Amino acid sequence: MKIDLRSDTVTKPSQGMLEVMLDAKVGDDVYKEDETVNKLETRVAKLFGKSHALFFPSGTMANQTAIKLHTNPGDQVICDKYAHIFNYEGGGASFNSGVSCKLLDGERGMFTAKQVEEAINPPDFYHSPLTRLVEIENTTNKGGGACWDFEELKKIKKVCEVNSLGFHLDGARLWNALSVKEETAEDYGALFDTISVCFSKGLGCPIGSILIGDEYLMKNAIRIRKLFGGGMRQVGFLAAAGLYALDNNMKLLKQDHIKAKDIETTLKKASYVEKVEPVETNIVIFTLNNKYSEDRFLNLLLSNNIHISNMGQGKLRIVTHLDYNSSMHVFLLDILSNL
Ligand SMILES: *Cc1c(COP(=O)(O)O)cnc(C)c1O
Repeated sequence: MKIDLRSDTVTKPSQGMLEVMLDAKVGDDVYKEDETVNKLETRVAKLFGKSHALFFPSGTMANQTAIKLHTNPGDQVICDKYAHIFNYEGGGASFNSGVSCKLLDGERGMFTAKQVEEAINPPDFYHSPLTRLVEIENTTNKGGGACWDFEELKKIKKVCEVNSLGFHLDGARLWNALSVKEETAEDYGALFDTISVCFSKGLGCPIGSILIGDEYLMKNAIRIRKLFGGGMRQVGFLAAAGLYALDNNMKLLKQDHIKAKDIETTLKKASYVEKVEPVETNIVIFTLNNKYSEDRFLNLLLSNNIHISNMGQGKLRIVTHLDYNSSMHVFLLDILSNL
């Protein structure tokens, strides 16, 4: 039994999902004639209380499109030092949009409105890049699945308004945050100009992301998607998976969170663990003390066919997901308790 906890992207479509995919009514989405894609886009736009939503092959392309919509070459984006757009999108912000990132030194990928205020370059000081966009991630990936305090986000929104800055949410795992917090998708829609969400992570789809926003920005999104090579044809087969996931898999995220909490509890008691980051959703980040080196520890797990991620700088990562079932969970906890 292989237990793959490297990421929540390793899930495979379930039988139920595959069946609705096969049954999907499709058309040429480049002509906007795919009714299943149109249905998913309309549903997700409505969920967030926005006028527009557009289907993308990846979260990276959705984020990159958002950055392009908000900025001109030479501009600057404010984001956390852990941000996915800075660390894990291949340098796309500079390549695709010609922008630089001003990195904030946040806590677990989250910063304050005050930090944003201090990072804005004065717009009339033409020597420095023009600050145009603030980007946040919820939940934070490199920050260990942490959820933002909605009150702080409201304060950041104020700063954006006062300074005419765009506000983008990388919501690859927003579904996880929504499942543990009080706020709704609509609350997030009211706060952000653009939001990207992924279907290929906790929701268990093979592929698919959506960018959501208001008319004034989103009217250009389809052109940028085309320019990035993301125009797709009979893609309703994939959108059908997204619709299925909203109906069936969204409510299962809580199970991933419970399992991650169990893993946190077990690791905290383990003789080989130095520190476990607080677990809020489905990501567990921890460091080892000197009982085992990282390589030795990962090899011990591998000898039990358990796969986890090494994030560097001593940080190890476990991500729970839809395909990580109860019997795997029992087995894993047993191994972790007895190493
Ligand atoms: C996974 C992820 C993305 C998008 O990744 P793709 O692999 O391009 O779909 C974006 N932001 C965060 C925080 C992520 O974890």
